[in-house]
Amino acid sequence: MTQSVAFIGLGAMGYRMAAHLPKYFEKVFVWNRNFSKAEQHATEYGTTAVELARAVQADIIFSCLPTSDDVEALIDTVQLKAGSIWIDCTSGVPDSARRLTEKLKSQGVDFLDAPVSGQTIGAENATLTVMVGGDVQAFERAYPAMAAVGKLIQHVGESGAGFAVKAINNMLLAVNLWSVAEGFSTLKAHGVNLDAALNCINASSGKSMVTETIFPQRVLSREFPVTFALPLLAKDTGIALDLVHDAKLPAPILSLTQSLIQAANLTSEPNSDFSSAVKMYESWSKITLK
Ligand code: NDP
Repeated sequence: MTQSVAFIGLGAMGYRMAAHLPKYFEKVFVWNRNFSKAEQHATEYGTTAVELARAVQADIIFSCLPTSDDVEALIDTVQLKAGSIWIDCTSGVPDSARRLTEKLKSQGVDFLDAPVSGQTIGAENATLTVMVGGDVQAFERAYPAMAAVGKLIQHVGESGAGFAVKAINNMLLAVNLWSVAEGFSTLKAHGVNLDAALNCINASSGKSMVTETIFPQRVLSREFPVTFALPLLAKDTGIALDLVHDAKLPAPILSLTQSLIQAANLTSEPNSDFSSAVKMYESWSKITLK
């Protein structure tokens, strides 16, 4: 494609997502705060490492930073090109998406909130789910770029809707993670073999992504590989609970889960994977899930 594209934020997700873009775009610019990562990306994937001011002159700009605050602060420092589209893949805050949509509209730029799901392996294989909020015409124009990094690219509503869907998705992940820790600890207390139990549950109605991949690969294996940091999950459950409060709905399970994840985050080692949240339950139950 003749359009230029840029990727800002080459972290666990962004580094892998940006790697697919040179297959579809002639000019792919990358920028990262720690610039050596951008240079490494250029060497590895044939992208071009550039200063931020140049990256944001691309026709399509992806960002994938930890929080919406980071994205807003960064956008405050740059001048954009009219006619471009900013695709923010951060798991962010819906109100921030609406603010940025208005702010960028005044510069002739479309903003899409386009958070992703599928973990680093999904980023690596370009099989991410991309949940997109914002203007439908901008969505259609940006579709080919998003299709370069994802498998399901779904418009879910107006600005902020993508961030909302992502926050609720990750809250459901957290509910699942905690519930499976309680359930499997109970089984272990009753002397049940956990691998055998997992086989049964994964062929039964209680299965989930947590039982299918997270538990066997991260918890029961005791590997807890750091690919999605626990503070990021704590951030997402916080965003989800804010949405619950905004809607003035009762949500006892989600409220409790958010508190549990916040507590696990506060008491975990720095640089812990989200799956390490179960270690807090293990410290209560005195049962190690292995
Ligand atoms: P990482 O912590 O691995 O990467 C964060 C990236 O943002 C790095 O490139 C970092 O640069 C950059 N960055 C951090 N703060 C700033 C700042 N203030 N200004 C400019 N750049 C900054 O995070 P992930 O890639 O794991 O996550 C990114 C987003 O994607 C988050 O919102 C997360 O919730 C979401 N997400 C993560 C998934 C995962 O499995 N990891 C899955 C789906 C969504 P530097 O290298 O200089 O530190």
